[in-house]
Amino acid sequence: MMRFFKHSLIIGIIGIAVSLILFMTNWYYELVIPVFEKSMDDGPLFTFIDYLTFYTPVILMVLFLAYIIAGRVYLKNHHLKAEQQMTEELIERNTEIQKALDEKAEFLKHKYYTNCPKCGAVREENKNVCSFCGASLIIEGSKDKKA
Ligand SMILES: [Zn+2]
Repeated sequence: MMRFFKHSLIIGIIGIAVSLILFMTNWYYELVIPVFEKSMDDGPLFTFIDYLTFYTPVILMVLFLAYIIAGRVYLKNHHLKAEQQMTEELIERNTEIQKALDEKAEFLKHKYYTNCPKCGAVREENKNVCSFCGASLIIEGSKDKKA
């Protein structure tokens, strides 16, 4: 579907231009109609074919125009969808970054024991709870003490 509409504007314009030239020069008409004239009687069917042949470029122009419009609509929707997906990905990524920043900010607000006050284990880097016993390593209410 994407491939069908990718170049619809330029193909459509060329198609309309060619149809317009066909319609104005009429050479195809001079080519086709004598064949029918020879092989059939002058009647309603001949009149119909005569008109159909004469207006074929006009029908083609309308079809090419419809092709351009359908292509524009399709590509616009396609772009909107791609844009929306990109925006969603950006929002998701921003949320993740914001969450990591919030966690970091929360972490930096406190001072920490270098050793667990409960079991004495050494605090692992960037941990706020003891990795052995799970006790909190935050020094409550103390701002001057070094972690
Ligand atoms: Zn501990």
